[in-house]
Amino acid sequence: MAVRFCQQCGQAMELRPVEGRQVPHCPACGFVAWSNPLVATMVVVETPGGIILGRRAIEPGYGLWCLPGGFVNEDEAPSDAAARECQEEILARVEILSLLDVYHIVRADGRGMVGIAYRATLAAADAPRPGSEMLEVGLFSPENLPELAFASHGRAIKDWSRAKE
Ligand SMILES: [Zn+2]
Repeated sequence: MAVRFCQQCGQAMELRPVEGRQVPHCPACGFVAWSNPLVATMVVVETPGGIILGRRAIEPGYGLWCLPGGFVNEDEAPSDAAARECQEEILARVEILSLLDVYHIVRADGRGMVGIAYRATLAAADAPRPGSEMLEVGLFSPENLPELAFASHGRAIKDWSRAKE
């Protein structure tokens, strides 16, 4: 992502090699604009009837299906963020079981992300229902998935399915 002006002092940034990369650097105050990835979670919630997907009521990917999940806030542990997103998106409490894998994701807009995928089960007797960001929720087997909003979710589901065999 291009950083043109210093966020500390407003000076025009210049590119300078730092640790082998060209990095925007402020010639006035020395601020370096590192481009670190956004961190997001995705959760494979296992139920006897399949895994839970939601059909998105928001962009990107309006109308397509995805795993529950979303961006991690700075003051949250990733596994807490994963459980929170499940409560918001499928209105269900989940128990995080384990880390599935960590993925490097390059978004369509070129931005880099780190995706952390977890396995989970539904807690107690909660039945998933669509939160405000979902049109509907459904149960799917990994062999019979609907069209997904994000390639990374398809990859995580494939890896989850393979790990179960
Ligand atoms: Zn500056």
